[in-house]
Amino acid sequence: MAKDQSFAAKLARGDVFHDKCSVCGETISMVKVVDTEDGAKDSVRFKEGMVGVCKCNEKEVYA
Ligand SMILES: [Zn+2]
Repeated sequence: MAKDQSFAAKLARGDVFHDKCSVCGETISMVKVVDTEDGAKDSVRFKEGMVGVCKCNEKEVYA
């Protein structure tokens, strides 16, 4: 429970979504991405997750 409260408090302060990249100095946006994986033969697996996007990798993420 204490963990959840801590996370909620972080969200309320906006800490989670306002990190700055130490390389380009841009604010890092959290973006939900879904990648397909060709690992399985009969089915395509989807890898889903949140990725931090800034100037450094936005071209790769949005490609
Ligand atoms: Zn960057």
